[in-house]
Amino acid sequence: MIGRFAPTPSGRLHLGNLLCAMLAYLSARSQGGQFLLRIEDVDIPRCPRALAQQAIDDLRCLGFRWDAPPLYQSERSGVYQDALNRLRREGHVYPCFCTRAQLHAADAPNRGDDTPVYGGACARLSAEEIAEKMKTRRPAYRLRVPDETIAVCDRHYGLYQENLARDCGDFILRRSDGLFGYQLAVVVDDALSGVSEIVRGHDILSSTPRQIYLQRLLGFETPEYAHIPLLEDAQGRRLAKRDGDTDLTALAKRFSREEILGMLACSAGLLDENRPATMEELIDTFDWEKVRTEDMRLPLSF
Ligand code: GLU
Repeated sequence: MIGRFAPTPSGRLHLGNLLCAMLAYLSARSQGGQFLLRIEDVDIPRCPRALAQQAIDDLRCLGFRWDAPPLYQSERSGVYQDALNRLRREGHVYPCFCTRAQLHAADAPNRGDDTPVYGGACARLSAEEIAEKMKTRRPAYRLRVPDETIAVCDRHYGLYQENLARDCGDFILRRSDGLFGYQLAVVVDDALSGVSEIVRGHDILSSTPRQIYLQRLLGFETPEYAHIPLLEDAQGRRLAKRDGDTDLTALAKRFSREEILGMLACSAGLLDENRPATMEELIDTFDWEKVRTEDMRLPLSF
């Protein structure tokens, strides 16, 4: 059994990220599994190395340990390109020349979160049209999705499903600036690292059907998924990376490691009261049944 935590270091980790890391860690360790850390800096310009290092330091400081050196997505373009080439050879991918303005046109249907569902304009280009457009514009590459409903049975939330053609549309595997898309990188990395359980925030649940479809095309197994509610502060506001007052440097000045772990465990429902706890105690007593399915809230204000 192999679990993992895969932060995007576009900002400092906040307590919500740390809670996610903690649940992934406790679940893996309580099953006697391994735990891996992957730095999701695939969007290289948005993820400076210093923030990746900060994330590693923060996790170490709370007592997390991993069983292999951290993987950096920014160093893995060759692996993603191989996967993309394979999908292209098999006819699942096409170049897309649409501009941002075309994609966000007022009449484009969207997923409900402002992300447009791609209408498929470039899916119908002839070989001649593609060759002509290639002369002036570097394309993105999109995966053609089927009119098919893909379901995930989430350990925590139960059934979640999407019809890929209707709810999502053909999605980007490589951007026109050459950077690889999150969906491809995540699927390739989890599979090649042998990850068998993915614990992550509820905000990524809707990416899971796309990832399962990619796993199928690439011949990878689908891991177990557990998406967890997003952590709120004591007033019920969602935490964000910009909240400097909940970064670990500030918190470590006021609280011990065990107090911070206890606070997180209490928010998740793993402890009945807010009290200090060691990682070992939390591993020994971890049980998914105790983890809250409704919003998780910090027990105190900062
Ligand atoms: N990198 C993503 C994030 O920090 C998580 C991706 C995942 O766990 O699959 O939100």
